[in-house]
Amino acid sequence: MSKAYKVSTGYCQKYTKKWESEDELKAWIAPDPAGRSDSAFCKYCRTTLSAHKKGLVQHSRSKKHENAVLKDKSALQSKKLDSTFKPTVTDNIKIAELKIAAFINGFFYALIKCVF
Ligand SMILES: [Zn+2]
Repeated sequence: MSKAYKVSTGYCQKYTKKWESEDELKAWIAPDPAGRSDSAFCKYCRTTLSAHKKGLVQHSRSKKHENAVLKDKSALQSKKLDSTFKPTVTDNIKIAELKIAAFINGFFYALIKCVF
């Protein structure tokens, strides 16, 4: 018979899917893109970290990580500004189109009234 497989009781240094739902990690943690189970990946810093819970929590509090998060958020905000800037132009066109449509409707209404 084969020897009993003894699971080590020390630190579990394996990427754990559960971390993706933990408050301090869920915003940025991802499995290692290279598929190493002993590594985790930070989406903001684009860096591979060792899959060690304590180290990962420390990483989430590091200045380097905080800066990367801030940088990402400001990038997102500038994207949002870009998209809100354009519709104001199309809104004016829409208003003009509505005015024309209202004018045409009024014209036809007057026409129908004359005919009947
Ligand atoms: Zn990070």
